[in-house]
Amino acid sequence: MVLRVYNTLSRRKEVFNPIHGNRVYMFVCGPTTYDLSHLGHARTYVAYDIIARYLRYKGYSLFYVMNITDVDDKIIKRAESLGRDPLELAREYERYFYEDMAALGIESVNLFARASEHIPEIIDLVKVLIEKGYAYETETGVYYDITKFEDLGALSHQNPEELKKHRIEPDPTKRNPQDFALWKKRGPEELGWDSPWGRGRPGWHIEDTAITMCYFGPQYDIHGGAIELIFPHHEAEIAQAEAATGRKPLVKYWVHTGVLKVEGKKMSKSLGNFVTIREVLKKYEPEVLRFFFASSHYRSTIDFSEKKLEQAKRSLQTLRNALNSIRSLRPKPELEEDDRELEEKMLRCRENFIKAMDDDFNSPYALKALFEMANEVNRFVESHETINRETLKKVLEIFRELGGIFNILQKEEKTVDSKIVSDLVELIIELRQKFRKAKDWQTSDMIRARLKSLGIILEDKADRTTWRIESQSKKES
Ligand SMILES: [Zn+2]
Repeated sequence: MVLRVYNTLSRRKEVFNPIHGNRVYMFVCGPTTYDLSHLGHARTYVAYDIIARYLRYKGYSLFYVMNITDVDDKIIKRAESLGRDPLELAREYERYFYEDMAALGIESVNLFARASEHIPEIIDLVKVLIEKGYAYETETGVYYDITKFEDLGALSHQNPEELKKHRIEPDPTKRNPQDFALWKKRGPEELGWDSPWGRGRPGWHIEDTAITMCYFGPQYDIHGGAIELIFPHHEAEIAQAEAATGRKPLVKYWVHTGVLKVEGKKMSKSLGNFVTIREVLKKYEPEVLRFFFASSHYRSTIDFSEKKLEQAKRSLQTLRNALNSIRSLRPKPELEEDDRELEEKMLRCRENFIKAMDDDFNSPYALKALFEMANEVNRFVESHETINRETLKKVLEIFRELGGIFNILQKEEKTVDSKIVSDLVELIIELRQKFRKAKDWQTSDMIRARLKSLGIILEDKADRTTWRIESQSKKES
């Protein structure tokens, strides 16, 4: 099956056809490390984690690089206000960032590249841009002359007149108000490095371009980032790289994630609806948050609310319950027609899952396929007490395999659900059945209540009793 990816550059879904055959190079704009990461970051990085996992699932050999912006005006300002060293402050927040990513189960990035560790590459790139006539030096720094680059606006689909409305940092020494800084000259009291244009530090846009050219060369497959980075940041990256190398396009597929709102409003500190990743993870399991993000398409706007997170928690539990209930069937060696049929149904659902993901990583439709699987499993459990051993293994395996793309359903769920415990629950149910037959409702109800207090829910059906583990929410530590 063919993978199609929506390309912001062409505004169409295109067949995914990497430049170097099976090898795929992907870059995603990383954090500026001066504050804790919030839910908007989580949404973006979970989305690219899912994309990365799916590309690897499809058999691509993916090299995924993310930059760390540790040289930036915001960091320097924050450090100044705290009386701290800016690089040291940046390191501290970088550490928090990694902690958050690990907590969210984001493990797909191969390399994190710090801007401060690529200063020589940045200087070389600025030199080339000056030599080729795209950049010029003034008393305050080195700037990119945007009138020299014809394709400006191609990614954001704006014409040059519209672009003039955006003002970047005002500076009377610049040729055009929209020219952006490649190098900022700074005095010895500020963070800086020596360069042919005196002491100073790089502009933001040039950092990422130097990093991708360093690891991927002049052209690569996927560049990701949040939608608000298209202009000016990603336009600037194209202008810098394509002018310097003379090769275009810099990036074959530009992939952008949608905005995250909180209760309908843009998240901001002043509105008091700024939610950090750590805060949410105190109350909810990481899998719930990942499930919540995956239930919207990566390009759509997500409106976050606690109510929706509760819904996500319940939906995820539905999938877990299906897995638990099939595990509670008695395995047997014989392969019957019904077992075979169940296997076939699972394979059909897997096909639907892959079809959805192949269509521009349509995760909500892929989740639908997982729920179809859960329904089939539940129907099977309703009418069977036994299952072929191999069939059971295959069913669990498919759940695990597809869940792995979202990094959900990976744990042998219920910590309680070791084989011994589930055998014990079966034994208790059998004994309770005897009390029920003897109409000793008091004892039978007591057993049910005691099990419930342990998180084990019994459901009495016409002919037998089934059980499941109650949803496990993370307890505050
Ligand atoms: Zn970037």
